[in-house]
Amino acid sequence: MSKVLIIGAGGVGRVVTQKCASLPEVFSEIMLASRTVSKCEVIAKEVGNGRVQTAQVDADNVPELVALIKSFEPQLVINVALPYQDLTIMDACLETGVHYLDTANYEPKDEAKFEYSWQWAYQDRFKEKGITAVLGCGFDPGVTSIFTARAAKHHFDEIHYLDIVDCNGGDHGKAFATNFNPEINIREITQKGRYWENGQWIETEPHEIRKELTYPNIGSRSSYLIYHEELESLVKNFPTIKRARFWMTFGDEYLTHLRVIQNIGMARIDPVIYKGVEIVPLQFLKEVLPDPGDLGENYVGETSIGCRIQGIKDGKEKTYYIWNNCSHQTAYDETGAQGVSYTTGVPAMIGAKMVLSGEWQGAGVFNVEEFNPDPFLEDLGKYGLPWHESHDIDLEL
Ligand code: NDP
Repeated sequence: MSKVLIIGAGGVGRVVTQKCASLPEVFSEIMLASRTVSKCEVIAKEVGNGRVQTAQVDADNVPELVALIKSFEPQLVINVALPYQDLTIMDACLETGVHYLDTANYEPKDEAKFEYSWQWAYQDRFKEKGITAVLGCGFDPGVTSIFTARAAKHHFDEIHYLDIVDCNGGDHGKAFATNFNPEINIREITQKGRYWENGQWIETEPHEIRKELTYPNIGSRSSYLIYHEELESLVKNFPTIKRARFWMTFGDEYLTHLRVIQNIGMARIDPVIYKGVEIVPLQFLKEVLPDPGDLGENYVGETSIGCRIQGIKDGKEKTYYIWNNCSHQTAYDETGAQGVSYTTGVPAMIGAKMVLSGEWQGAGVFNVEEFNPDPFLEDLGKYGLPWHESHDIDLEL
């Protein structure tokens, strides 16, 4: 029986809150806090029965966070606000001695830079305080990292090649929309590609490397090599990996829109003066793009995300594929949120359950692949994201 504080009332916050509320034996009391309290209230009302308390908080402000944590006294904070708030929320958890969990690594607002260094730097302080920080417990990072941990624990003596494959085979009927926060999403996919090979990072131009990959129940899709944050921790935690890459599917229409957005300067993250007011073009663009939280109603099709792995078991080469498919419509019918929010929110709830039940424990800062994958994966199917595996197949890579 534990109290949990959820910060961030976007698409992911909605799913985490609903999923935590459905497990009163684990999450006895829930508070949802965010910058705009009315969004928390809508979600609390959907859950009903007074299960969810709400609060306004500016998560950039450590004293405000500390005051909220002290008044509610949670055992754990689930951070599903934006990556910009990771460090302030970690600071507040340190000051109050409360466990921490997030789904995306810290990014400075003025630089699209994805790396764990800032959060790993909290290791000693979390250790000394005797509390746990769980980093990257969404789907990717999150489930993909735990899939890799399962492969390493049960199916390989050495993992040599890891390819994380992320396909959104869904259609929301809009000319252009992002599936999670547009600002964060566009920063992520317009940066240079990067992959790990033979002990070093190799950089590519954005979307320079493409492959046609076949996804279960979806078919063949153009998949582009991009950098994704879990690669950094996975090559560190599984040092036998010779090559690690991340592939994401994009349609031609989507890439054309993206190119135009970049070419006309709307992806810029540095401020410009407009009629005497400072605005950041990408933040302005976010205001006019569809809200990812509203895409669910007419969203059809599925996501398919997994890991394709090659390596050695008992002296023999083997291949292995582990994946989940998630239907946008099923996710929407259950939670009012589309598949991308769902596939992030469910793992965040399960990660919180792992910490609170003691399945995952330890003082310090951990990426999810450092914990036992088995109890997490037992829960994953149970709470809405069933997974599948195939051995010794053609990985197309
Ligand atoms: P949204 O933009 O829909 O929601 C973010 C929420 O955080 C909003 O409610 C927003 O408030 C709130 N927020 C922003 N700044 C602050 C602040 N300073 N103080 C308090 N609240 C704040 O994003 P999503 O729900 O789509 O994504 C949430 C997180 O999940 C992001 O970090 C994203 O990167 C991550 N993610 C991870 C994935 C994974 O697989 N690992 C996949 C998808 C997302 P307001 O409503 O006022 O704007």
